[in-house]
Amino acid sequence: MLTFIIFLLLALIQNMETFIKYLDDPIFRAVTKAAGEMNLMACVVGGFVRDCLLGRDAKNDIDIAVVGSGIDFAHAVAARLSPPPEVKFFKNFGTAMIQYKDVKVEFVGARKESYRCDSRKPLVEDGSLEDDQKRRDFTINAMAFDLRMSELGELIDPFNGMQDLRDKVIRTPLNPDITFSDDPLRMMRAIRFASQLDFIIEDGCYAAIARNAGRIGIVSMERVVDELNLIIMSSKPSRGFRMLDETGLLQLIFPVLLDLKGVETIEGKGHKDNFYHTLAVLDNVSNTSSNLWLRWSALLHDIAKPATKKFIPGSGWTFHAHEFKGSKMVSKIFRELKLPLNEKMKFVEKMVLLHLRPIVLAEDTVSDSAVRRLLFEAGDDVDDLMLLCEADITSKNQIKVKNFLENFEIVRRKLVEIEEKDRLRNWQPPITGDLIMTTFGIPPSRLVGEIKEIITEAILEGSIPNEFDAAFQLMLDEGKKHGLVPVGT
Ligand code: ATP
Ligand code: MG
Repeated sequence: MLTFIIFLLLALIQNMETFIKYLDDPIFRAVTKAAGEMNLMACVVGGFVRDCLLGRDAKNDIDIAVVGSGIDFAHAVAARLSPPPEVKFFKNFGTAMIQYKDVKVEFVGARKESYRCDSRKPLVEDGSLEDDQKRRDFTINAMAFDLRMSELGELIDPFNGMQDLRDKVIRTPLNPDITFSDDPLRMMRAIRFASQLDFIIEDGCYAAIARNAGRIGIVSMERVVDELNLIIMSSKPSRGFRMLDETGLLQLIFPVLLDLKGVETIEGKGHKDNFYHTLAVLDNVSNTSSNLWLRWSALLHDIAKPATKKFIPGSGWTFHAHEFKGSKMVSKIFRELKLPLNEKMKFVEKMVLLHLRPIVLAEDTVSDSAVRRLLFEAGDDVDDLMLLCEADITSKNQIKVKNFLENFEIVRRKLVEIEEKDRLRNWQPPITGDLIMTTFGIPPSRLVGEIKEIITEAILEGSIPNEFDAAFQLMLDEGKKHGLVPVGT
């Protein structure tokens, strides 16, 4: 009994300690003051509490629940801050938001929710704090720290989220079938949190995701992809993707990725399973880069392998030109997944298109002109391209891997050396179409493009130096071949 009481006391002190450093924060002080003056129950709840207890960097994103009007309370808190921030409120939802310095604070009146089957938007009525905790997605997200002066910093944890945090388990407070069917986005969130925090999803809860996967159809693609991006940004994204696959969600949200799965064997020869290879490449890239779009490039680098697969008798499997076809598939995939159709997409297209180039370089003796060409085509993205290429080496053959990595070092050295000499990363060929036209006094024509192309090629090949004078001379020579002379001579 005594040990139990000591344990309880220790747990209490520990929880308090993690939060205590925040109690002096002006926002929490303002909440405590306002709660006292209005005689209301108010607490901080959700992600902030979870991250605080996990010792993760508490984010600048605070959720306050109050038993009363969230909007009135937000105004009262804002008035106690200096300078008082503007209160943005959403009457229909009964929520309010303030931005104080770099912290976003959301206020919600404690509520009870009930759902209809065709929408993830609930019917809402006022409720107790416990009602509000019950409507939250996972036990680890349903904990609150009391902000009333009399109970300051006390953990309110009706579903034993603290134990689940210790055991690294994702579990719903209520029946998971109801939780997931009510708001199917929670299935994506479960897998996202498991992937982000390196937790497991409790068995019953996991089985409920598989049973309710079909409900994901009522969620907008934008919200699904927000969660998918968070999975991709976790430190080992393959964990999340395996869960998405096992529960059947991946088939529903991103079926082309699953086309990569499987191994076919003909004449005793099989190819690698490109789905698991892709996940390995994604994990590898995630070890060296936190660029979301480079991670997307890893996910899509072999996407056209199923469409280009051929068995050549006597020789084996080929995926000829999968980088070209793959690059062309990117925009359709981005459109379907409601990803941005801007320069981020162009970056992914470029990475997919060029992803074999450094490997080819590393296989051959590395010629200067090939490196120049790569620098010209990849531009400033050449470093990202090298990371993707290195990540693509997932062979189990250690000797092969060692050779590749050594050759990669040579490629890297050459890239630096040639960039220093020729400055091709952001290079624009020195002779423009305009200059060709004004020099020879000719209108736009195919010939102008051809002369430009010959000059660019000559510089990349190294047959003339990357200098204006040499390029201008070549332009004159090429013009002469076509009977062109400079104006005024
Ligand atoms: P993070 O900010 O790291 O993504 P979070 O837990 O703070 O994690 P938010 O989306 O900011 O996630 O939501 C804040 C809180 O609101 C959650 O902790 C959870 O209690 C609740 N919540 C959010 N989305 C849902 C949902 N779809 N169903 C039930 N509760 C939810
Ligand atoms: Mg949050």
